[in-house]
Amino acid sequence: MITDPTLRTLARGQEMLAIPGPSITPERVLQAMNVPMSNIYAGEVADISWEMVERLPAVVRTTGRAFMMISNGHGAWQMALNNTFSRGDKILVADSPFAATWSSMAEQSGIEVVTLVGDGVNPVDPRAIADRLAQDTAHEIQAVLTVYTDTATSARADLPAIRAAIDSANHPALFMVDGVASLGCEQYEMDAWGIDLTVGASQKGIMVPPGMAFVWANERAFERADTADLNTMYFDWRPRANPDAVYHLYAGTPPVQHLFGLREALTMLLDEEGLEAAWARHQVHADAVRAAVNAWATDGGLSLNVTDPRFQSNAVTTINAGTISSDHLRKVCEDDAGLVLGIGLPRTNNNQFRIGHMGYLNPPMILGTLATIEAALHTIGAPIGGSGIQAAAQVVTASMKTFKTQNREGSDLSTIASSI
Ligand SMILES: *Cc1c(COP(=O)(O)O)cnc(C)c1O
Repeated sequence: MITDPTLRTLARGQEMLAIPGPSITPERVLQAMNVPMSNIYAGEVADISWEMVERLPAVVRTTGRAFMMISNGHGAWQMALNNTFSRGDKILVADSPFAATWSSMAEQSGIEVVTLVGDGVNPVDPRAIADRLAQDTAHEIQAVLTVYTDTATSARADLPAIRAAIDSANHPALFMVDGVASLGCEQYEMDAWGIDLTVGASQKGIMVPPGMAFVWANERAFERADTADLNTMYFDWRPRANPDAVYHLYAGTPPVQHLFGLREALTMLLDEEGLEAAWARHQVHADAVRAAVNAWATDGGLSLNVTDPRFQSNAVTTINAGTISSDHLRKVCEDDAGLVLGIGLPRTNNNQFRIGHMGYLNPPMILGTLATIEAALHTIGAPIGGSGIQAAAQVVTASMKTFKTQNREGSDLSTIASSI
């Protein structure tokens, strides 16, 4: 037996990636992507491309158009701006850490940004949006931009309330939403919620490696490309909407492997599980994470960053580390147990860590993550209130019991045992 602890680590085994993107890519998606480079003019790559154009609108529940590109989320942000605005246009941004980056991009592109600042944790109050729009009687503001789930704070904006705010001011501004961290994780109804444009990327709830990004636009947003002077050849969505050939969909070479992965991921998300079931699964996992953190919480110790249940994201949870060092905790989890947690982001509070619970996850992964954090908390001598493992397991139990009554009627284990 090895007694020298410096000679061993428990981290061998599948690394558990619990960061808020890139999320865990399902083995099936990776396998689907493992194809040789192929014909890009016709055949499967072309077929999948046309199929994705048809299928992607269902991810955000729109009858509008979907555009795909080879980029990360930043590219989709840029496509959204370039097709809809001209230099000197004014936009209203509901501030949050990720919204601030989108808004810097807009400023650098020559757009005038009016920022509504919130309390630094929760989403900006929709009433502030209504008030600012009501002041804009000349309708100079061209659009309202917001992030749905902000991945830094883990606060989720109330999008129907923002739509209602825009309507209450009787304002024609476009409503543009960054759904990168939320799509596939949280309920999202682009058309029903009156959203004109949505930005997304492949590597979070959509379960495909980073490298593809998406913009969805309704007709109102789409038409603005005709007059938007920020438009550039690469991002222009008009040729992508009226393609003569497959390469027009991408303004160049298609992302061959990603397309195979995306087709597999959409089969899993839309056909096999269904969006509602995926949202419900994320809800249970997020509830389990929050129950664990609340059980660990002490005065001045660990705490949830977002405490108002109306604004808690089901895709990511940001945790204030209190008296312990979040970096130390993450290092113990990573080095000795193979668990990778998300870092705190500078705009919010440096002494935070984040648990990503987006995409391809089930209870062993979530409960394993929480149990490992609890072990690490004990290891570093963190003051904790009670057992987060127990609290999280109770949340999962409640869900499993409902599942059993709904789906397993008649398959009582005692009946099975007596029949063996
Ligand atoms: C991840 C993320 C992005 C995009 O990030 P990239 O690194 O450019 O892919 C944008 N917005 C939100 C809310 C995100 O979580």
